Amino acid sequence: MTKTYAELNPSPRVLLGPGPSNPHPRVLRAMSSPVVGHLDPDFLKVMSDTKELLQYVFQTSNDLTFPISGTGSAGMEAALANLIEPGDGILVLVNGFFGGRMCEMVERYGGELIRVDIPWGRIIELDDVERVLKANKVKVVALVHAETSTGVLQPLEGISRLVHGYGALLLVDAVTSLGGCPLKTDEWGLDACYSGSQKCLGCPPGLAPITFGPRAISALKDRRNKVANWYLDLSLVQLYWGPERTYHHTAPISMNYALREALRIVYEEGLEARFKRHQLNQQALLAGLLAMELQPFAQEGHRLWTLTTVRVPEGIDDARVRGRLLTEFMIEIGGGLGPTKGQIWRIGLMGYSSSKNNVLLFLGALEQVLASEGFGLPAGAGVAAANQVYCEARGIAMTAGV
Ligand code: PLP
Repeated sequence: MTKTYAELNPSPRVLLGPGPSNPHPRVLRAMSSPVVGHLDPDFLKVMSDTKELLQYVFQTSNDLTFPISGTGSAGMEAALANLIEPGDGILVLVNGFFGGRMCEMVERYGGELIRVDIPWGRIIELDDVERVLKANKVKVVALVHAETSTGVLQPLEGISRLVHGYGALLLVDAVTSLGGCPLKTDEWGLDACYSGSQKCLGCPPGLAPITFGPRAISALKDRRNKVANWYLDLSLVQLYWGPERTYHHTAPISMNYALREALRIVYEEGLEARFKRHQLNQQALLAGLLAMELQPFAQEGHRLWTLTTVRVPEGIDDARVRGRLLTEFMIEIGGGLGPTKGQIWRIGLMGYSSSKNNVLLFLGALEQVLASEGFGLPAGAGVAAANQVYCEARGIAMTAGV
């Protein structure tokens, strides 16, 4: 018998995990526009718009600003590969899973890895950095702005001043922050920064926006050796994204349509309004989770607006709850990674997925699942607490309804 393959029919999901988030419907529509050549005048216009819009979102005037063809890890690899030469001292500050991934890449490019581990769920303090900078010759300090594995937002301004005081470069992973919370590339002096399309930008996975500032460009120009990765050599890719428009690789046309549309939506909403939306929805979610007596994991005062982490209650089966949310409510949330596996839940409110509807839907669904799993909790408390936050934000009394 000839094998048959069913028509593709993935379930519609409410994506509230660590990424991808739900793309905006306009982004999906843009993806189905006719494919043109990668040097077609229409596509060159898409590239110019995308670069300008990325400069807006990164809050930078850096000329080297464009999307790498690849996911967030390709952005990470591009940033590191271009700044590392064999023997260079590279300090990686690790307070979660993705800092660990940076270390693996540093070693593959021949960097002298100096790894500092900070407990997961906590921020990196200036003392942790200065101690190491004093004792070592460091070319690049690398860290994660928004640790998706822990839900911690790392302050960057102080670290940036410190790092530059020691003549080093600052390399920042903004995969879970770009477009969801403030990221001021120029004002904060970030030398190299990258992100991913699939989180707070509200686009499917597949592109990794990157930006390099003047100090990083100088380091690139002063290299003794060629970048060890041809595909991600930014001086080559820049010849395609710059005025030369020289062929480097065939750009993923439909993904670039998607990113341009996602960025256009960010621009229309405005960065400040977008950040406020992410902040408000996170506050409502957290209020709901606290009312349900769940314990936050990330350090107080440094919790991400885009991803909230809570501890799995004693006696509750992490995977079973996530499985039930998916099958009964079509909601995806994330479990813990590495040492937090089975111990925390990661709830993302990113981009188009960061909405009041999603917060209330999720809290109602979680309450139902937890209650039937034997976790006694006050009925309706989560949704009521979240509603209270929304009412306060609108300056109306709870009884007036929302
Ligand atoms: N860095 C951070 C902080 C991330 O959250 C992720 C993915 O979730 C990555 C890097 C890797 O991105 P990708 O999975 O798109 O390759």
